[in-house]
Amino acid sequence: MQKLQYFALIFTLLLSGCSLKEVNASTHKVDMPAANSKVTMKMSKVSPQIKKIPVFEPQATIAISPIAFDSTHAVLSTVGRKNDVSKINYHIWCTADGKKGIKMFTATQKENDFPFLFDIKEFSGSRGEYQIEAYEVTEDGSQILLAKSTLTFQQRVPILMYHAIDEYKGVGLKDLFVTPANFEAQMSYLKDKDYTLLTFERWDEVNKVNKPILVTFDDGMKNNLNAFRILQELKDDQFQPTATEYVIAGSIDSSPSRLSTEDIKEMVNSGIFSIQSHTMSHADLPEITNYEQELNAAKEKIEQITGKPVIAIAYPFGHFNDQVVEETKKYYKFATTTKPGQFIEKGETDEFMRMRRVRISNSTTINQFAAMVEPR
Ligand SMILES: [Zn+2]
Repeated sequence: MQKLQYFALIFTLLLSGCSLKEVNASTHKVDMPAANSKVTMKMSKVSPQIKKIPVFEPQATIAISPIAFDSTHAVLSTVGRKNDVSKINYHIWCTADGKKGIKMFTATQKENDFPFLFDIKEFSGSRGEYQIEAYEVTEDGSQILLAKSTLTFQQRVPILMYHAIDEYKGVGLKDLFVTPANFEAQMSYLKDKDYTLLTFERWDEVNKVNKPILVTFDDGMKNNLNAFRILQELKDDQFQPTATEYVIAGSIDSSPSRLSTEDIKEMVNSGIFSIQSHTMSHADLPEITNYEQELNAAKEKIEQITGKPVIAIAYPFGHFNDQVVEETKKYYKFATTTKPGQFIEKGETDEFMRMRRVRISNSTTINQFAAMVEPR
């Protein structure tokens, strides 16, 4: 009995709270002076600097139909409405573009909770995160915000794979060498086409920016300083290039052809490079047992130099198996392979331990490059 009474009381309080808000909203203009002076008096006692604290209390919930990783549309509806509503306007915009790209759609089917089929075609097929607001449209045509939500259509992310950035002089595999001129043309292309260069630390921005892309380098070659200089030169207020260097921890300072501790510090301090792991000795991971050394000791060694967390690894030779995945995920959040393709989050187990990459080689033309990084 006591419990019931308690719930009844809460319920009454909730109801009266709602009706009070309704009254306030509908008689807003009339009551303004009195209500305002009251609020101001109260506020000034607590904190004189803060004049207004905008608090949004949802008056409904935006329901979104389940979507698959590659969906291009979803059905929105507005459920749990506290008011009697006859028309809903959905305001939708792409998070990356901001409100300047806002579009409005009207739904009138009250009996089905105001369904609206939202297709990304409305936004030229752009994927990523969308902001959605549902507004009640009153008889006089004014709009009252009822609910907010977000909806994400996963973006495909090209993770570019480079090795040497240098002229090929006959030593090593030619295909691993991209000339500085070609690299500069490729990065200029990304700049001109408004790509957003990210690193793994900023992975949670992948769906909030336009054309996300990662630029990665394997092996920690000294000639990657050519890439560093090119990215520095391209940097301006609009274009903030970032890239990931996967170093072989045991090869740092080992020879003139490898990055030194000083090089790495300079790269990190520039804000352009994130230094991540390519194991301790470029081990063929499915063939070894000393995972602690190759995975963890390598990570710790790099962290000691950079003072920053190492969260990503590139499997040497792109080799891995189920056991390698199990060991790797003890120490890393991201692991890239050499399997070709853009990465898209599908919701599969350990998918961040098997990330695909886009290989850029000596013979890659700028037209091929453009096709490889094209948003899909
Ligand atoms: Zn390698």
